[in-house]
Amino acid sequence: MIRTSHDTTSSSPQEGDSETNHRMESRWIDVSVPLHNAMVHWPSDPSFSIKRVKDMKHGDTANLSVISMGAHSGTHIDAPLHFIQQGQGVDKMPLDTALGRARVIEIRDIESIKPEELLSHRIRRGERILFKTQNSSRVWRVSKFVEDFVFISDEAARFLVERGVRLVGVDYLSVGSFKQGGSYVHKTLLSGGVWIIEGLDLSQVGPGKHDLICLPLKLDEGDGAPARAILRPVRRGGA
Ligand SMILES: [Zn+2]
Repeated sequence: MIRTSHDTTSSSPQEGDSETNHRMESRWIDVSVPLHNAMVHWPSDPSFSIKRVKDMKHGDTANLSVISMGAHSGTHIDAPLHFIQQGQGVDKMPLDTALGRARVIEIRDIESIKPEELLSHRIRRGERILFKTQNSSRVWRVSKFVEDFVFISDEAARFLVERGVRLVGVDYLSVGSFKQGGSYVHKTLLSGGVWIIEGLDLSQVGPGKHDLICLPLKLDEGDGAPARAILRPVRRGGA
């Protein structure tokens, strides 16, 4: 399923100059955020909690936890059903939607992602695009919800749909603005055939091509579901 263009170069038995590249290319990076009590959540969503209800420390034969959470906690997939009443649930997501080649695009704008900045990146039909904004180095380090995170502008949402991307990933808890409301951006992307990953931590990855593995839990008719997401750089600095 995961094919990488560096297979030919890394098949060389010689290490030498390519050693650094090889090491970078073969390292999988976890871009999901940990789920834990008191973690940040969308203000109007339920909070996350995990509690050990059987505990070997207290004489039980096994450890066992119960969890309670909104389906959009931490790193997660948004299904069309999140904003479209007749839309597909997360269980209907084509399996290769978030499996395969993806491109990390570094965004300089500290307010929002805009078409003007995207133009130079020549986004093509069918691409999986993950936006690394200033969020990644900022929002996951604080325990309070950050309201002024970098979001996808309305214009950029339309632009991405017109370009025909298949997946968009963002590095905080919504594709849309907190202050202006995120409905339009969600509806535009989800009704335009674009699946969404929210809640990525891209602080440890650079821009360019990567292999992506991300699968949501199979929640029947789920409007969203928590997911584990990992990335492996394909080529140093490649875009
Ligand atoms: Zn969501």
